[in-house]
Amino acid sequence: MAQRATSIAAAVLGLLLAEILPVAGETPANTAAAGGDFPLASDVRVGGDAKQTRFVVDLSRKVEMRPFTLPDPYRVVIDLPQVTFRFAAHAGERGRGLVKAFRYGLMMPGGSRIVLDTTGPVRVDKAFVLDASDSQPARLVLDLVSVSREAFLRAAAVDTRPERANTRANERTNEPQQNGDTRPVIVLDPGHGGIDSGTHAPNGGEAEKTLVLEFALMLRDKLEKTGKYRVLLTRADDSFVPLIDRVRFARARNAQLFISIHCDALARRAGEAEGATIYTLADQASDAEAARLADEENRADVISGVNLAEESDDIAGILIDLAQRETKNFSLQFAKQAVGALRGSARLHKHPLKSAGFKVLRAPDVPSVLIELGYVSSRQDLKELMSESWRSRAGDALVKAVNDYFTTRLAGGVAR
Ligand code: ZN
Repeated sequence: MAQRATSIAAAVLGLLLAEILPVAGETPANTAAAGGDFPLASDVRVGGDAKQTRFVVDLSRKVEMRPFTLPDPYRVVIDLPQVTFRFAAHAGERGRGLVKAFRYGLMMPGGSRIVLDTTGPVRVDKAFVLDASDSQPARLVLDLVSVSREAFLRAAAVDTRPERANTRANERTNEPQQNGDTRPVIVLDPGHGGIDSGTHAPNGGEAEKTLVLEFALMLRDKLEKTGKYRVLLTRADDSFVPLIDRVRFARARNAQLFISIHCDALARRAGEAEGATIYTLADQASDAEAARLADEENRADVISGVNLAEESDDIAGILIDLAQRETKNFSLQFAKQAVGALRGSARLHKHPLKSAGFKVLRAPDVPSVLIELGYVSSRQDLKELMSESWRSRAGDALVKAVNDYFTTRLAGGVAR
């Protein structure tokens, strides 16, 4: 109970912070709104060669930093207090020397992160932050040198690992008190967030993380309006949540339905695809496209620098077996109802029902689906994803699917 009280207090505090503090992000709207008291990261440079590479960030004032390395793929992660990033557009898409590419963004209120993808095993040779002077901004400097894999792994093993990057699963920012409320709990899971933007429209337009958050907030309002459900979100702001924490969040709240929300994109040469697709969990992907998508969605943790070695507890080891058949059946039932409801009001993919090994669908006891609302690579889909009226119609269809699902379940007498 004490723990619950603490987590509620933390949730309330988190909510307040989320409300008060502007959130750093790469979108112009966010950067315009940001500012506040956060140090500003105004510029970034990478110099050097394949033996030794220097990574420099200009800052409006000195901050603490904590660099560490992760293997497979090789990454250098730099944890910082929350900063407002105002790097040039496309910064990080291409690196230099030992740095292949890098990403940056919010991990949680109060914490930002930069993740460097390196070309191979590296060692952080020097890491320091210089004070601002009359002529120079404060500067964060990281020197990387190329090392053998053995040396890399040795160093990574003795690294003082930061606490789990984000364990907000137990102190979410948006949780109303339960107070004997017996309505079914539905968890909506907007994909990605913070440092992990998800996919982008080809012209560098709206990020997936933003589209799916907006959709999830709208869907929450519609579901709450029915009065029949308690609706919780795995994230209600632009912060990152590891995949495993999304699953844990749903399980810890005895969710009776988990809906993960995403948008897809195809590379330009990969042909044209459009429409919404509903995915359920399976060992074997239903087709090559589903397998490709699951790989991409499962990379969220790699992208954000979560240490996958820490996953080796509750969920990571869970395999799909017969004991999960009931959950699978319910998941499939909802997926079919969602396809049926969306058919009239949204464009559907020509094969709208698919399955693959999505990590975020792995709760053994929570019926879970992942909805790809559409393809941001399709001009028509993107137009719809951005349109208020399409979103509202798709939202209404999903509310209908949820209503159908719980009606069927209750009629079937299968209580949990
Ligand atoms: Zn996604």
